[in-house]
Amino acid sequence: MTVSPSPFEYAPAPESRSIVDIAPSYGLFIDGEFVDGTGDSFKTVNPATEEVLTEVSAGSEADVDRAVRAARRAFEKTWGPMRPADRGKYLFRIARLLQERAREFAVLESLDNGKPIRESRDVDVPLAAAHFFYYAGWADKLDHVGLGTRPRALGVAGQVIPWNFPLLMLAWKVAPALAAGNTVVLKPAETTPLTALLFAEVCRQADLPAGVVNIVTGAGETGRAVVEHDDVDKVAFTGSTEVGRSIARAVAGTRKKLTLELGGKAANIVFDDAPIDQAVEGIVQGIFFNQGHVCCAGSRLLVQESIHDEVIASLQRRIGTLRVGDPLDKNTDIGAINSAEQLARIRELSDIGEAEGAQRWQPACELPDRGFWYPPTIFTDVSPAHRIARDEIFGPVLSVLTFRTPDEAVAKANNSTYGLSAGIWSEKGSRILKVADQLRAGVVWANTFNKFDPTSPFGGYKQSGYGREGGRHGLAAYLEGAEQ
Ligand code: NAD
Ligand code: MG
Repeated sequence: MTVSPSPFEYAPAPESRSIVDIAPSYGLFIDGEFVDGTGDSFKTVNPATEEVLTEVSAGSEADVDRAVRAARRAFEKTWGPMRPADRGKYLFRIARLLQERAREFAVLESLDNGKPIRESRDVDVPLAAAHFFYYAGWADKLDHVGLGTRPRALGVAGQVIPWNFPLLMLAWKVAPALAAGNTVVLKPAETTPLTALLFAEVCRQADLPAGVVNIVTGAGETGRAVVEHDDVDKVAFTGSTEVGRSIARAVAGTRKKLTLELGGKAANIVFDDAPIDQAVEGIVQGIFFNQGHVCCAGSRLLVQESIHDEVIASLQRRIGTLRVGDPLDKNTDIGAINSAEQLARIRELSDIGEAEGAQRWQPACELPDRGFWYPPTIFTDVSPAHRIARDEIFGPVLSVLTFRTPDEAVAKANNSTYGLSAGIWSEKGSRILKVADQLRAGVVWANTFNKFDPTSPFGGYKQSGYGREGGRHGLAAYLEGAEQ
């Protein structure tokens, strides 16, 4: 079944890409300098066009070792001994530079990742700056975090991040680590290394002492070298549960501290007393934000049976107005899928959904000829046993289930190996509090979804990982003797 496309025709509103200056190739950022790596190089593409943007180094074990040694020196000689208030000043300076160069970061993020400029401009970049502002404020107040009277930095943090929010995940990792007095070696994801390299330039611009932040690009092997390096005191990983598990095994038995932010399959629960129009907006925001490449996406819609048909009809009408296409167009709602591999995974799981008996619905929408694209999709008639109700699809695909009573909603919501986030839509405050209390999820949104703030801790239960990022809690992961 299809609906007719939006009656409105929009004129193109492209953001200019000339604001970014992409070099033909990039080295690694180690000890305050861009240096040649000793490994091979690889290409990063614009997923909306398949155009090669540039070549980037794949950091070898020797490169990672050099970066860790630089970070250790900086920890011992400059950053560690520095007055905490001065560390804070550097973080404030980085935050301001991120704001000053926001447009450049947003365009580069959309080019390398495929996300709509509306999101990189209004969400990723401002939130990244907000993280640095927030943690800058904590740098000289660590004695008052409630983590003991003299909490101490751990040392060198090895950090590995995914491709869905490249700059924002960098900020989540780097800002608290530096505020707590640690130095870092960060490995960005292989499909989205460019904003991390631009961030390296910002570190230079901020006169951050050499070696405090080191950026080593590369794929899984480079990440493994960071995680397994003997002189790393702390490992922070965001990515898939599968890789997270292998990292937990590699770190077990060492003295390294570990936090894991992994996958999710969030329940977004809509009760029959919810304001339907508002809930529909929240459902759309929950699953189609960032093409659904969101670990905390509301990918399982649990809707009370009595309003199922009304919600689905309204949802279909709304999805019919979403604009899929050029990420740099300011009117675009849904951009490109990040890579050919991710697109193949989304297609495979959607096909399995259909084969298992769920009903697939997609609006009539034209997709560009080149690049990696998937239309917004909803599956109805989904049962809890279906793969599309259990596995993380990490794409713009919503699985719809129903329930009759609040108890059934809670049981179905918790029937997952994951526990990262959840949403509740209801007019009754008492119901929201009661249900939220029973959900095994790190974040529960009420009458909203996918809202992020640096002051608010974020993290999972079960196979969604452990440890918290954000807020005061996020500092504990980078301080000695501090339990979260
Ligand atoms: P991934 O696990 O394949 O890769 C994540 C990062 O780990 C990349 O930088 C990759 O190069 C690196 N890596 C791969 N193998 C490694 C190894 N053996 N040792 C060390 N590093 C290694 O995940 P992905 O496909 O890039 O990202 C999508 C996944 O990330 C989804 O499952 C999603 O839910 C999860 N995610 C979680 C959060 C969160 O905060 N919980 C946020 C974003 C994404
Ligand atoms: Mg790319």
